[in-house]
Amino acid sequence: MLNVTIDGQPLQVEKGTTILEACEFLGIEIPTLCNLEYLSPEGACRMCVVEVKGIQNLQVSCATPCTEGMEVTTMNERIYAFRRLIIELLLANHNTDCFNCSANGECKLYQYAMEYEVEKTRFVNTRGTPPVDDSNKFFNYDPAKCILCHRCVRVCNERQSNRTLGLIDRGVKTTMGLPFDQLFIDSNCVSCGNCVSVCPTGALTTKASKKFRPWEVTKTRTTCPYCGVGCQLDLLVKNGKVVGVEPADGKANQGLLCVKGKFAYNFINHPDRLKTPLIRKEGVLTPVGWDEALDFVTAGIKKIREESGPDAIAGFSSSRTTNEDNYVFMKMMRAAIGTNNVDNCARV
Ligand code: SF4
Ligand code: SF4
Ligand code: SF4
Repeated sequence: MLNVTIDGQPLQVEKGTTILEACEFLGIEIPTLCNLEYLSPEGACRMCVVEVKGIQNLQVSCATPCTEGMEVTTMNERIYAFRRLIIELLLANHNTDCFNCSANGECKLYQYAMEYEVEKTRFVNTRGTPPVDDSNKFFNYDPAKCILCHRCVRVCNERQSNRTLGLIDRGVKTTMGLPFDQLFIDSNCVSCGNCVSVCPTGALTTKASKKFRPWEVTKTRTTCPYCGVGCQLDLLVKNGKVVGVEPADGKANQGLLCVKGKFAYNFINHPDRLKTPLIRKEGVLTPVGWDEALDFVTAGIKKIREESGPDAIAGFSSSRTTNEDNYVFMKMMRAAIGTNNVDNCARV
């Protein structure tokens, strides 16, 4: 363990703990645009700077490990002025047409600009207005809103293992992009949308997010129904309709989703979706109530069981349900019918 002092408060931390993590432990909030749980620390945005006694330059707290006897100051005039300067530099190359931006209301750059009272920037734009890449079916990339935090690059490289994104050019010309100036549609991108989920600004946004503002939706935590992994996600609901999905920090997915979990929610409100059971009557599939449907199935199962025994019956459930659902189904088949004939890998 290491002994450190943060804003005069003594603390013991394990070796390898960063200053930012130690501050979080004490409940001291440090602003950051690039740091994110499960991604390697990068120190890209420089917003999280703090003063360390005995070191002349300010240190990025997200990428600086604590050392024995370290004394840290998290806020004073110098730190405040430096963070304001960082926000101004970021705003110089950031299209501030916030009115038309899907991230309006949850943009972290905007939030910090308000908090640090930065209303405009003294610096010139060196990036111009590069075109929006709207080639992906589910999301858009607007380089004019990118603040080069590298979150998208890291999530694609380190967690999705797809290596689609990277930093292009050097110095003031640096942009986040794809190799050989490819469009998303021409790249190896698998449209998982994890880069969109971690983007702190309106640079990467879902196409659907044009239809709602963050404060108009309620969030409902649920389990993705598409496979047995059981990823946790939040459904974004506006006026009783699901308009988007955000990954949650579930044990199975830790903030990630695949393309199905992130974008394939349209089945919920789709007009072709079956909403009632159907029984074939005189050759025609006819909508019926649940009581009638369950009575019909029970009578059919009873008849087969009486005529041919329980092993004449088999149950199929789906690999797309959760493990828990499949377990309950197996128990039900054994208890209610008396058979172990269960296949829960069916693609139904
Ligand atoms: S959608 Fe997924 S695969 Fe495509 S760039 Fe983003 S993180 Fe990488
Ligand atoms: S696109 Fe978003 S996540 Fe990626 S570097 Fe730019 S601001 Fe960061
Ligand atoms: S379909 Fe994708 S998002 Fe849904 S549970 Fe499976 S891996 Fe997770």
